[in-house]
Amino acid sequence: MDQSYPFEEISPWVATPTDLRPPPDGDVRVDVVVVGGGYTGLSTALSLSAAGIDVAVLEQDFAGSGASGRNAGHLTPTIGKDLPTLLRLFGRDRARALVRFADDAVEYAEQTIDRLGIDCDYVATGNVLAGVHPKHERRLLKSAATAADLGAHVRFLSGEQMRERGLPPSFLFGVLEEKGGTLHPGRYVAGLRRAAIDAGVRLYERSPVVELVDCAPVRARTRRGTITADRAVLATNAYTSALGWKRRTVAPLRVSLFESEPLDERRLAELGWRNREGIYTSHEILESYRLTMRGTIVGGSKNVGYAFGGKLAAGYDRDAFRVIERAFRDRFADLGDVRIARFWSGWIGLTLDFLPVIGTTGRATNVHYGIGYAGHGVAQATLMGAMLGERVQGRAHPSEAALARKERAWPPEPARWLAAKALNGVLTAVDARTDRQIRRG
Ligand SMILES: Cc1cc2nc3c(=O)[nH]c(=O)nc-3n(C[C@H](O)[C@H](O)[C@H](O)COP(=O)(O)OP(=O)(O)OC[C@H]3O[C@@H](n4cnc5c(N)ncnc54)[C@H](O)[C@@H]3O)c2cc1C
Repeated sequence: MDQSYPFEEISPWVATPTDLRPPPDGDVRVDVVVVGGGYTGLSTALSLSAAGIDVAVLEQDFAGSGASGRNAGHLTPTIGKDLPTLLRLFGRDRARALVRFADDAVEYAEQTIDRLGIDCDYVATGNVLAGVHPKHERRLLKSAATAADLGAHVRFLSGEQMRERGLPPSFLFGVLEEKGGTLHPGRYVAGLRRAAIDAGVRLYERSPVVELVDCAPVRARTRRGTITADRAVLATNAYTSALGWKRRTVAPLRVSLFESEPLDERRLAELGWRNREGIYTSHEILESYRLTMRGTIVGGSKNVGYAFGGKLAAGYDRDAFRVIERAFRDRFADLGDVRIARFWSGWIGLTLDFLPVIGTTGRATNVHYGIGYAGHGVAQATLMGAMLGERVQGRAHPSEAALARKERAWPPEPARWLAAKALNGVLTAVDARTDRQIRRG
C-alpha cells in the first residue's frame, strides 16, 4: 500500500497514556456500564458518579482514541446541515430550540473545562463560516439573517472586517459564530479522563466490548471479563453499528485532517490571524482551518468517505490527503513552502437529519444511547453526557426536548452505499467547480 503521505495512526493530539487502566479480569458488577471513552462516555460517567452511581467505562483502546482525540478542536454551536435547512425541516419553533440547544452545549463544555480546571488551550474567539468565492456572499447573508431570526449569536463580517481581524485574504467575508472558539481536543479528552478516574469511575482500557448482551441485567462481554449492570450506555458514536446496535440510525463517515509544520515568528506575523478564530468554508462539504498554540495550521475535512455496510473506512486515505493538501495550498498561497507534517483520519457519526439522537432501547429498555453529532460533537457530546446521566436516572434533562423527534432510518445496503456515493459525488463536483473558478480568478 502507498504510504507516501506522513500518517498518524490516531492523531498528533494524543498518545497512549502512561497510566493506561487495565482491562477487567473476570466478572464485575456495577450500576451502569458505559461503552466508549470519548467525550460522550466520559461526560456521562462524570455525571453519574457525581450522583453517587457506581459506573464502569469500557474503552477498546484508550480513552480519547476515537473522534474525541482526533478532531480539529472547533468548539462550535453549529447544528444540523445549515440553519436554512433546519428551518425548512423543522419549522421556526423547533429550529429556535435547536439553536438554543447548540448554544447550551457550548456553554456546558466551557463550564466543564472551567469546573474541572482542564488546561486545553481554549480560546473563546468564535468560529467564522467564510466565503471563498464572491458567489458565496448571498448564501452567507441569508444564513446570517436566518441565524439571527432563530436567536443564534452570529454576525456577518464584510471583507473589510475580515481584514481588520487579520483573517487570511482568501477568506473573503464570513459569518462569525460568536460563541465557542478552538481548543486542544486531546488535552480536553485527557482532562475528562483524569477527572473520571479521580471521581472513582472504573475505567477499563484496551477492553473492546465484543458483545453487549441484550438482557436484564445487561452484560458487556470483553475478551477477559464481563461487566454486568442494571443499565448500559452506548457512547460509541460512529462505532455503534460495528457493535451491532442502531445500525439504521447512524452512519460512520471518515474525515481526514492535516497539520502543517510550525510557522516561524516572521511567518506568523505576516499571516495575521491574531485572534485565532476557527475557520470553515461555505463549500457544500466544508474545509476547516485553525491556528494551534504550537504555531501550526490544522485543517482538512472537505473529503469524506463512507464504506459499504457501515464499516469504518480505512484510516489511510491517499485521495483525501491529496484533496485537503491542495485546498490548503489554494487558501494559503503565501505558505507554499510550508510542509505538511502529518495527516490522520477519524470517524464521525451521521444521522439522516444531521442531528444527534438520544434514546433508550433493548428488550428491557435498559440500553441508553447518545450518538450522531455530524462532526459537531466537541460541544454536543459533552452536553450529551449530562443528558444521558439524567436519562439513566429516569429523568429528562431540559435539553432533551429540543432533540425529541422520530428517528429517521438510513436505507439498507446497497441503497445506502449508492446514495452516499451519489450524494458525495454531486457535492464534491459542485465544490470542485467552485475551486476551479477561484483558481481561474
Ligand atoms: C477528523 C475529525 C474532525 C472533527 N472535528 C470536529 C470539530 O472541529 N468540532 C466538533 O465539534 N466536532 C468535530 N468532530 C466530531 C467530534 O470529534 C465527535 O462528534 C465527538 O468526538 C464524538 O464523541 P464521542 O465520545 O461520542 O465519540 P468518540 O470520541 O468516537 O468515542 C467513542 C469511543 O468508543 C470506543 N469504542 C468503539 N467501539 C467500542 C467497543 N466495541 N468497545 C469499547 N469501546 C469502543 C472508541 O474507541 C471511541 O474511543 C470531528 C471528528 C473527526 C473524526
